[in-house]
Amino acid sequence: MSGFGQLRLDGVGRRFGTADALADLDLTIERGEFIALLGPSGCGKSTALNCLAGLLPLTAGSIWQDDQRIDTLPPEKRGFGMVFQNYALFPHLTVRDNIAFGLRMRRLPKEEVRRRTDAAIDMVRLEEHAGKLPGQLSGGQQQRVAIARATVLEPSLVLMDEPLSNLDAKLRLEMRTEIRRLHQSLGLTTVYVTHDQEEALSMADRLVVMRLGRVQQIGTPEEVHTRPTTWHVADFMGYRNLLPVSASQVDGDAVTVPLGGTTVNGVAQGPLAAGDEVVAAVRPEDVRLGNEDVTGLKGRVEVVEYQGRELAVEVALEDGVRLHARTDRKVEAGEHVTITVTPGRLLVYPSEGPADRP
Ligand code: ATP
Repeated sequence: MSGFGQLRLDGVGRRFGTADALADLDLTIERGEFIALLGPSGCGKSTALNCLAGLLPLTAGSIWQDDQRIDTLPPEKRGFGMVFQNYALFPHLTVRDNIAFGLRMRRLPKEEVRRRTDAAIDMVRLEEHAGKLPGQLSGGQQQRVAIARATVLEPSLVLMDEPLSNLDAKLRLEMRTEIRRLHQSLGLTTVYVTHDQEEALSMADRLVVMRLGRVQQIGTPEEVHTRPTTWHVADFMGYRNLLPVSASQVDGDAVTVPLGGTTVNGVAQGPLAAGDEVVAAVRPEDVRLGNEDVTGLKGRVEVVEYQGRELAVEVALEDGVRLHARTDRKVEAGEHVTITVTPGRLLVYPSEGPADRP
């Protein structure tokens, strides 16, 4: 199947027995887009990807490629490329033959197979390794073969399920850039599953953040990072300070919440009234240590961790609440400090009942 303008998932769901692994997924993917499906283990990411691939039949909804319904088509008729975490290369075939395999299966002319295979080998920079067997390659090189094998067929969509999770940290970083580079140079439409928020933020045009089989938020990296729509998304995006409190005062979207024996200002992320049970969320990077004479919340340093340019610090406030903070000055456990929250960065979410509390 050739390229498409849009791929649309319309109320897609997948149930196992009585449990919804995936429910009500509405998503439109534009041609050339890089979409990351992101969320904790078990949230339904792989289920969504497998439904798209045709490896798993839907139990609700439909999938459309432009105006053609495709969820009834078997995987091979969808023409999508797939890259999974275990590379699934043929161990007895060379790099070149692994990459050429799909083209040969299509019975393309020899000359075309050679030309396209060469171009794919070139693209993933494996010229020197073309004659080797997969067992003679590093993990990253094997993964590049898997990517070349999936993309050489010029699929209308590439599906990737945690393709980097078996690689070491340095290689993962390199491959992120590599995949992004390939995506840009080939204009590939990509759906990429990961549980790593940094990976998703750095690679994708748009993120789909999932929880318990449902979409929590769809947005650009910046939107999801700076304005998570629920405290669960905030939690997942590194807002390590999640404080269940009740709102002291509310005036429009300006809300104050009790903290450290005083109150701090936050920004309401939903309709709120004074007295409501809320969850206040702020990233450690937005909680800064000052000197003791600065006005702010008083506390005592409990834990200090070295993190390169900055120190990650845990501070116990006078009311016993512990906050994760950052500082670029030298501090030690036991020291009394004052902390300030960057204005506008404390986000206050409505809580949906006692069960919905961090
Ligand atoms: P992970 O990151 O751990 O792979 P995930 O977000 O990809 O997780 P899924 O694999 O999509 O999650 O699983 C979603 C839910 O569906 C889980 O609760 C899982 O146990 C359940 N599930 C998945 N496949 C099946 C199956 N074949 N039979 C029954 N339940 C399943």
